[in-house]
Amino acid sequence: MKVGIMGGTFDPIHIGHMLAAECARDAYDLEEVWFMPSHIPPHKEDAGVTGLMRLEMTAEAVADHPSFRTLDWEVKRGGVSYTVDTVRELREAYPEHDFYFIIGADMVAYLPKWNRIGELAEMLTFIGLNRPGTKLSVDDLPDFLQKAVVTAEMPLIEISSTIIRSRAASGSSIRYMVPDRVYDYIVRSGIYGIQP
Ligand code: ATP
Ligand code: MG
Repeated sequence: MKVGIMGGTFDPIHIGHMLAAECARDAYDLEEVWFMPSHIPPHKEDAGVTGLMRLEMTAEAVADHPSFRTLDWEVKRGGVSYTVDTVRELREAYPEHDFYFIIGADMVAYLPKWNRIGELAEMLTFIGLNRPGTKLSVDDLPDFLQKAVVTAEMPLIEISSTIIRSRAASGSSIRYMVPDRVYDYIVRSGIYGIQP
């Protein structure tokens, strides 16, 4: 089975993440995409938004899609999680799966700096998607990474979790920037300064 991993902080998960996962799934016939929130050390966490809440928002976001799932391993493990360690465990648990890691253009450019990237690049294929602010370019990567990265098209979405957090904090609407079920979760729990 071909499985995409959509990793991120998801603080909160937004339509850029959803569309990136869907375009990657569609372009490479992924049978499932597993959304995996990463753990953030407690001192980095934003006003009251815990790993568990990021996991719950992610679960709301994927609930309507027949091929999308959440993966709680990094949040549950806590501490600093390196993708390379998680992917090694995934391959041990699911030796029959082929894994693809889905990332936006900013992360494609940053790949050379990832922890033990040489090891990680041997274990999976990265699918890179367009994102405003960084040109999606595989040619600029070192040779060993050029072999490990493929690309897919997606409409440019100029939304980030940072923009959403700052809009919410200043009282601007974030409706439609996150999936409806995530919006409801945020309003219900009163996080990001949104008033229920
Ligand atoms: P923050 O502003 O807090 O950094 P973010 O919006 O960048 O949040 P992350 O959780 O950091 O979201 O990103 C997870 C993954 O999703 C990364 O690979 C990132 O490149 C990708 N991604 C996020 N937003 C978009 C977008 N609008 N278009 C394409 N890819 C995106
Ligand atoms: Mg980011």
